[in-house]
Amino acid sequence: MTDVLVLNFTYEALNITSFQRAVKLIFSGKAEMVHGRTTILSSPTFEMRLPSIIRMLYYIKRPMQKVALTKKNVLLRDDYMCQYCGLTGERLMTVDHVVPRSKGGPSTWENLVCSCMRCNNRKNNRSPEHANMHLRRKPKAPKYIPWIRIKRNTLPDEWHKFLFLYNVSIEERIE
Ligand SMILES: [Zn+2]
Repeated sequence: MTDVLVLNFTYEALNITSFQRAVKLIFSGKAEMVHGRTTILSSPTFEMRLPSIIRMLYYIKRPMQKVALTKKNVLLRDDYMCQYCGLTGERLMTVDHVVPRSKGGPSTWENLVCSCMRCNNRKNNRSPEHANMHLRRKPKAPKYIPWIRIKRNTLPDEWHKFLFLYNVSIEERIE
């Protein structure tokens, strides 16, 4: 794993980049190393630890990129958790139209949720009220792109203290 977490000047998680790009940012004076890995990168002219976390030395205004509405991104937004029964697991999940397509339900962030196959079959072509199945949280469009790449299983330990805060703010937006 050689991905590098990029923090903004304010220590807020910004995105994830390759170590090559991170090294370039450090050498051009645009970023500093916050946490290095044990692996040493060396060449005849320099030696440094493989970066794990870097911080930008100036403030980056985060662009308000829209997150593409795809099946995968709906599942990521919902943490691969069935929004009806709470079951989790990447392979078992489908995307459910809360108001069914057959009843005019649109394909929008607000009308699509992660659902396990069992709940999806059980709900069939009914609204949650008719099926007596309740959503665990109100589905909303996510605002930023970076968190999507952060919701992965294997994160280096040193990333957690930065992503903890970050994920909390994301969860607040989703609720
Ligand atoms: Zn379910």
